[in-house]
Amino acid sequence: MIIRNVTVIDGQEAAPIADAEVVVTDGRFSAIRPAADARAATGGAPVIDGRGGYLVPGLWESHTHLGGHAYSKPENERVKYVSQLLTDFLSAEVTSVVDLGGPLEIELAARDYRDKATDAAAGLFFAGPVFTGVEGWPVLDDPARAPIAYQTDNADVAYRQALALADQVDFIKCIYDGEPGAPDKLPLDALKAIVAAGHEKGKKVLVHVHERIDLEEAVAFGADGIEHAFQPQDPGSTAEARDVAALLAETNTSYCPTLVTWEQIAHNGAAGYLQQLVDDGFATHDDIPHITSRPIYGRQFPRHSAQDSHIRFDYAMRTLALMHDAGVKITAGSDVAILMPSPPIALLRELQLLAKAGLPLPAVLAAGTRHSAEKIGQQATTPGTITVGSTADALLLDADPYVDIAHLVDRSHHIGTLRVGRPSWDEGHPRA
Ligand SMILES: [Zn+2]
Repeated sequence: MIIRNVTVIDGQEAAPIADAEVVVTDGRFSAIRPAADARAATGGAPVIDGRGGYLVPGLWESHTHLGGHAYSKPENERVKYVSQLLTDFLSAEVTSVVDLGGPLEIELAARDYRDKATDAAAGLFFAGPVFTGVEGWPVLDDPARAPIAYQTDNADVAYRQALALADQVDFIKCIYDGEPGAPDKLPLDALKAIVAAGHEKGKKVLVHVHERIDLEEAVAFGADGIEHAFQPQDPGSTAEARDVAALLAETNTSYCPTLVTWEQIAHNGAAGYLQQLVDDGFATHDDIPHITSRPIYGRQFPRHSAQDSHIRFDYAMRTLALMHDAGVKITAGSDVAILMPSPPIALLRELQLLAKAGLPLPAVLAAGTRHSAEKIGQQATTPGTITVGSTADALLLDADPYVDIAHLVDRSHHIGTLRVGRPSWDEGHPRA
C-alpha cells in the first residue's frame, strides 16, 4: 500500500517531510520518501490519497486500567467490555493502550479475543497484577480487589512471583507509596527483588509513587519509569522538581505525571469544571448529566483528597516544562480520569494539559508516542515512530500538530488512522 500527498512527522527529531510517499508492507512501514523520489505502484498495491494531511505516529495511552473501567460491570461481562474498549480506543484514534495493572485473566482473555476478532482494535500491552504491600493501594480492605495485586511482605516470595509473572506480561508494575515500614507499603527489599526479577526477564519495571522519597528510592533500586507526578513537600518552591528532574534525566527514567487524573480528583464536583471540559472540546452538554449521575461524582476519592490532588496537579503543571528542559523523558497516560465522558478521550485531555504546562509541541507528541513505547521497552517493533520497519500505526491530521495543540487533540482535525497498516480514513473529511 502506498500513501501519497502527506507531510510525515516521524515522531523523532527529524524535520517533517512535506509531500511524502509512505509505503506499507505487511503491516509495517517499508519506505518513507519525498514525492520527488516516488515510484510507481507495483503488483496492484493500493494507492491512498493522504489528502494533504499530516501523518504522525499512532497515539499511545500509556497509563490506563481497563479492568478498572470494567469494574462496575458484572464479572461475566468484563472481558467483552474490555475487548470492546480496545475498539473504542481505536475509534477515538488511539492506536496503542498500555494497561498499568489489573486482573491477569481479563487482560490475557482480552488479548486472545482481540487476536481472533476481525474488527480492528487498538494494540494492548499490560502489566497484570501489580505488586503492593499488605492491604496496600489499590486493594485496601476490599477482598473483591484482590486479583489486581500481589500483596507482598516478603522479598523472596515477591522475586519468584515476579519471575513467573514476567513470562506472561509486557512489563512489571509496583505500587510504592505509604509510610516507610508500614505493612501496606511494599518493603524496600521486595521492590529491589521485583526490579531484579523483571530485568532478569528483560522486562521494564514501572513504579507508582506518592512522594519524592518514594521516587528517589524507586530510582535508586532501578525503576525504569515513574508513574504519577509526585506530591510536593513545599509547593511554594520549585526546588524539589529541579532535584527530581536532575535525578530522572541522569538515570534516563521516564516520568508519566497522569495530570488529568489529579485534575479530575481535585475538581470532582466543582462548579464549572465540566463546563470547562465542554469549552475545551472534551465533552458535550449532553454528557454532563451522565457524568454527574456516576456514583463517584462529587465524592471524596479514596486515599487522595481533593485538596492534596489540587496541590499535586498545580505543582506538576508549574514544573513539567522545567523537567522537560532538564532532559526528563515525559510520557502521556491518563490513568482512570473519573469525569471523562469515555475512557479513550482522557489521553487527548492529558496531551492538551502537557501543552498547557508549557511543553513544546514536538515534546507533547513524543510523550504520546515514542516515549510511551520506550517506557515499556517496545522500541524495536512498535516504537511509536514513522520509521522503516516499525509497525504501521499512524494518525492522519488535517493541520500541523506543531503549530497548535488543537490540531492533535481536537478530534475534528483527525482524518483517520492506520492500525498495523489498515487504514480507517474519513472519506468525507475536508481536504487539508
Ligand atoms: Zn494507575
